[in-house]
Amino acid sequence: MHTKHFLQMIADKNQSGQSPLLSIVIPMYNEAESIDVLFSQLTPVLQAITSSWEIICINDGSTDGTLAGIKHKCAQDSRVKLVSLSRNFGKEAALTAGLAHSSGQAVIPFDADLQDPPEVITEMVTKWKEGHKVVLATRKSRRGDSLGKRFSAFMYYKLLGRMSSTPIPPNTGDFRLMDRQVVNALQLLPERTRFMKGLFAWAGFSTVQVYFDRPSRNSGKTKQGLCKLWQLAKDGLFSFTTAPLRMTTYLGIIISFFAFSYAGWLLVRTIIFGVDVPGYASIMASVLCMGGVQLVCLGIMGEYLGRVYQESKQRPLFIVEETLGLDKAK
Ligand code: UDP
Ligand code: MG
Repeated sequence: MHTKHFLQMIADKNQSGQSPLLSIVIPMYNEAESIDVLFSQLTPVLQAITSSWEIICINDGSTDGTLAGIKHKCAQDSRVKLVSLSRNFGKEAALTAGLAHSSGQAVIPFDADLQDPPEVITEMVTKWKEGHKVVLATRKSRRGDSLGKRFSAFMYYKLLGRMSSTPIPPNTGDFRLMDRQVVNALQLLPERTRFMKGLFAWAGFSTVQVYFDRPSRNSGKTKQGLCKLWQLAKDGLFSFTTAPLRMTTYLGIIISFFAFSYAGWLLVRTIIFGVDVPGYASIMASVLCMGGVQLVCLGIMGEYLGRVYQESKQRPLFIVEETLGLDKAK
C-alpha cells in the first residue's frame, strides 16, 4: 500500500506521462522461443506494481525469429519498445544500448531466458521506495548453472575482489534495479570495454541486496559460450585493475633475486672447486622457465596495450539499425 502511494507520487511528478516509472531492459540474441513465455510471466508482475512501465527489447543481431517476435509484442502494447542493432555486438553492448534508450525512473536489466525471476522485481521496487538507489539481486543458489561454471565464477570473483579497488559483488549478475540517477551516471562512462557488472559497481550510490534462487534457462541453450565468458572475464580483470602489471614487476624482482643468488653461488663454487661441466638440466630448466615467464609478462602487457588501442579508436559501442516505439533516435 505504501509502495503504491510512493509510486503514485512519482508517477504524478512526471505528469506528462512521458517517462515511465519502470524500464525493463532485455538484451535478446536468438531468443525467439523464449519471447512468449517471457512476456506472459513478466507483464503481470509489472502490471501489479504500476501501469507506468516500459519494456525495451534489444535485438542483438539475432538470426532467428526474435526480431519478428518483438515487433509482434510492440504491436500489441505500445509500452513494449524495440531497439534493433545492426549485428551481434554482445550482451554488454546490447545492455548499454538498452540503458541509453530507457527513460524510466528506475531501470532493471533483465535476461530473456527468465533466469532472473520476475517476482523479484516487486521486492526490488519496495527497496527502491525505501530510498536505496541500487537494489542488487544476489543469487542465493545457482542450481541452474553447472558445477564447473559455479566453481570458476566463485574463484574468479574471489581473485577480482582481491585485485580490484572497485568491490564487485559476487553472485550478482546484471539483474538489479537502478535509479535514474545511477543510469545517468553510467552514461557518462565512455569506455569501449564494457564490463557492466564492474561499471555498475564503480558508479556507487546507496546499495542494498535482495536474494533469490537462480533457476535454469527456460528454453534454448546459453548464448554466452565459453569463449564469450572468457573474454568477459579478461575484460573484467584488465579493465578494473592494473594489479597484473604490478605483479609482473614483483615477479621480475623475485626471479632476479634467485637468479643473482644462484649466479653468485656458481661463481664461488667454480673458484673453489674449479670448472664443473655437468649442468645441462639446470640450464635447460632456467632457460625454459625464464622464457615462459617473459612471454606471460609480455602477454599481460599486450592485454593492456590492446585495450588502450581499442579505446583510442573511439568506435561507437553499437549501431542501431531500427527502433520501434521510441520517439528519440539515439
Ligand atoms: N545475449 C545477447 N547477446 C549475446 C549473448 C547473449 O543479447 O551476444 C542475451 C541473451 O539473449 C539473454 C542474456 O543476454 O537474454 C543472457 O544470456 P544467456 O542466458 O545466454 O547467458 P547466461 O545466463 O548463460 O550467462
Ligand atoms: Mg541465461
